[in-house]
Amino acid sequence: MLKLEHLKKRYKTGPWVLKDISFEVPEGEIVGLIGPSGAGKSTLIRCINRLIEPSEGNIYLADACLSKLSTSQMRTQRRKIGMIFQEYALVERLSVMENVLSGRLGYLPFWRSFLRKFPSNDIDNAFEYLDRVGLINHANKRADELSGGQRQRVGIARALAQDPRLLLVDEPTASLDPKTSRQIMRLIQSICRENGLPAIINIHDVPLAQQFVDRIIGLQGGEVVFDGKPDELTEDV
Ligand code: ADP
Ligand code: ADP
Repeated sequence: MLKLEHLKKRYKTGPWVLKDISFEVPEGEIVGLIGPSGAGKSTLIRCINRLIEPSEGNIYLADACLSKLSTSQMRTQRRKIGMIFQEYALVERLSVMENVLSGRLGYLPFWRSFLRKFPSNDIDNAFEYLDRVGLINHANKRADELSGGQRQRVGIARALAQDPRLLLVDEPTASLDPKTSRQIMRLIQSICRENGLPAIINIHDVPLAQQFVDRIIGLQGGEVVFDGKPDELTEDV
């Protein structure tokens, strides 16, 4: 479970871009974060894993209070938070398998004998994740040989390889066509259901969000202006 308590953020002496955000996300729930450009969606997502430091408030993930951890403790906790990105953030010249395994390390070493460093158990698991996202036959391809939809599937498998407690997903379909976007959202949805994983998805496409998330949180000017079921959303949010 994820819990945010009175989260606030301002960049240096600028205005408050997150004003007082509190909500809980239970296991397995998928939250779609919507709102106009500049509403604070990216800031909120990045505050949760402390890629950006919150100015005030607390963040709890399972029994850890993330906002009170030291930088090095946070590095360990961040491994439990799977990130999925708009532009996939793969290492293009490495294989699909190597990209997935990088989820276990949290970084990619520069040398190519990389695979030998992993216990066979990690490699078996990585094959399982690749199978889950439908890419078992692409394990040895270079990431740059894949289509956009396939690259995003690698991104999802890499997040799974972290054995995450939470998924943070930033505009996962913004670079994809409508059909592929639906496939990717359906995949994220079923993976969250199967693993009881909570997820927060920053998503621009409101109809797509309405189709695949359990709950929508609308942000505007750093405040929550809507929090409810997708079918309760009205046009003016
Ligand atoms: P969204 O993701 O909803 O488009 P952002 O979180 O990117 O919103 O931005 C929220 C506000 O914070 C905007 O007014 C933006 O200009 C400001 N902002 C974002 N990043 C920075 C930064 N690094 N320094 C100063 N202001 C920032
Ligand atoms: P998807 O099923 O993910 O929508 P596409 O229809 O986009 O796949 O692509 C079909 C095939 O074309 C894929 O198997 C992929 O290997 C190949 N492909 C797509 N984009 C590229 C690219 N930029 N470079 C190399 N191959 C690509």
